[in-house]
Amino acid sequence: MFKIQEYIRDIKNFPKQGIVYKDITPLLENPVATRKTLDAFLSFLEGHHIDKVVGIESRGFFFATLLAQELNAGFVPIRKPGKLPFDTHRESYSLEYGEDILEIHSDAIQEGEKVLVHDDVLATGGTAAAACKLVEKLGGEIVQCNFLMDLSFLNGKEKISSYKVVSLISY
Ligand code: AMP
Repeated sequence: MFKIQEYIRDIKNFPKQGIVYKDITPLLENPVATRKTLDAFLSFLEGHHIDKVVGIESRGFFFATLLAQELNAGFVPIRKPGKLPFDTHRESYSLEYGEDILEIHSDAIQEGEKVLVHDDVLATGGTAAAACKLVEKLGGEIVQCNFLMDLSFLNGKEKISSYKVVSLISY
């Protein structure tokens, strides 16, 4: 039986001491495993219409673009500050130490469009919550928030509890 876990590699103490980094590159290198992962995501979206798939920089981009193609939807990147060239909306959010900012192009989503938000890892949920706020600032309606995995001990699902959350694996 296919197990996504077998294609996710733990890297201890990356990018800093005490963090166990979930490396998805073994999954991305394997086209069969990538296809099966994509199919698993799609099974949660049957019967739903999606206009835009929003991917969060940078590892959210991989499956977000694949999902957008499969769903016949547009792909929209949410990026770190200063990376998007056109007019942007921005949202700041708190990290364990300090703050960070995410941006979206101000014309990327139209009022009432149905949106799927995707990232690789749901940790504390701050990043996903900020991404959802940006989508809603533009008038988008969030159908679902999608993750390859969540780190359940960090309770990220609580920060986005007003949305439907799908995570293929929980650690
Ligand atoms: P958070 O805002 O705490 O939910 O963090 C989520 C963001 O940080 C996602 O964009 C992830 O790609 C990244 N992230 C957080 N923790 C990890 C981890 N242990 N391994 C890989 N990426 C992580």
